[in-house]
Amino acid sequence: MENVIIIGTGCAGYTAAIYTGRANLKPLILSGNMPGGQLTTTTEVENFPGFPNGIMGPELMMNMQTQAEKFGARIEYTLVSSVKKTAAGHFEVHTEGGTVYEARTVIVATGASPKHLGLPNEKSLIGKGLTSCATCDGAFYRNVPVCVVGGGDSACEEAGFLTKFASTVYLIHRRDELRASKIMADRALANPKIKPVWNSTISEYLTDEKGEMRAVTLENLVTGEKSELELKCVFVAIGHVPNAQFLGDLVDTDEGGYILQTEGTRTKTEGLFAAGDVADHVYRQAITAAGQGCAAALEAERYLADHGVH
Ligand SMILES: Cc1cc2nc3c(=O)[nH]c(=O)nc-3n(C[C@H](O)[C@H](O)[C@H](O)COP(=O)(O)OP(=O)(O)OC[C@H]3O[C@@H](n4cnc5c(N)ncnc54)[C@H](O)[C@@H]3O)c2cc1C
Repeated sequence: MENVIIIGTGCAGYTAAIYTGRANLKPLILSGNMPGGQLTTTTEVENFPGFPNGIMGPELMMNMQTQAEKFGARIEYTLVSSVKKTAAGHFEVHTEGGTVYEARTVIVATGASPKHLGLPNEKSLIGKGLTSCATCDGAFYRNVPVCVVGGGDSACEEAGFLTKFASTVYLIHRRDELRASKIMADRALANPKIKPVWNSTISEYLTDEKGEMRAVTLENLVTGEKSELELKCVFVAIGHVPNAQFLGDLVDTDEGGYILQTEGTRTKTEGLFAAGDVADHVYRQAITAAGQGCAAALEAERYLADHGVH
């Protein structure tokens, strides 16, 4: 019987592991398919406090792993398929490989996967001119044209933010009006640096000799006409899918599938905590995920103490 199982090895999961490890709870972490989480898919992280010269995403995550292991955290490289609460009040954590782990508490830190357009070469372009995070990567694209794909509040917000850096921000949307709230849409459309491209989608990412984004092929969904648009980065803002489906009805989710926390990082199931992007559609940053991982660890620790585990 584990004291605490942490599902996910992103910033939230490793921070929860550092805290529960230091509290002598010997956490077990289950890594999922992306050990180190989303930051392993990026290059330089410039906004994580403590690194004035920036740090490479994979290196930051390796450091977090080393720090968690230093305090006794154990990692299993496996994907969780379901979690159940037993009549005795414990959790059974089932993995794809068929192993079942038992735990008194579970911290879910499984993040949210950004939705992409499904184009053939997109995997190889992530970090080379294709991203889903303007706050993270916007500053790398100064005085060059970029685009945002999407028409909701996030797309408008990201486009507005990117005008601080880019020469032009094309806002590519499938329809002829934005579905963002009126205030966000008005603000975006009034910005002289934002150029809407209506009724259009990207049908191809075109690369340069270094394999980086050079241009996109636009397809007009009304006329079927195709054209090429030169730009250095595509920011995809068509939503995220929180990785919470495997929890079934142990948690309530909002309409986007994000886990609803009841108080702090608690969920509707006692002993089950949620931290990071899986429960946060607002901030989605490494530092906020880490902060929630810390909070979940402290709450799990208190829960265990209330149940006689010290
Ligand atoms: C390209 C890119 C660049 C970014 N740059 C920055 C930046 O510069 N600064 C910044 O603050 N933020 C940045 N972000 C955002 C940041 O990466 C996320 O906010 C942060 O990683 C969220 O951490 P998390 O721990 O909640 O989840 P994640 O990092 O998403 O980690 C989720 C973990 O859960 C695991 N998992 C998922 N499902 C299962 C399952 N069923 N079983 C077991 N494990 C599972 C995954 O394997 C993974 O280890 C960037 C994001 C991207 C995509």
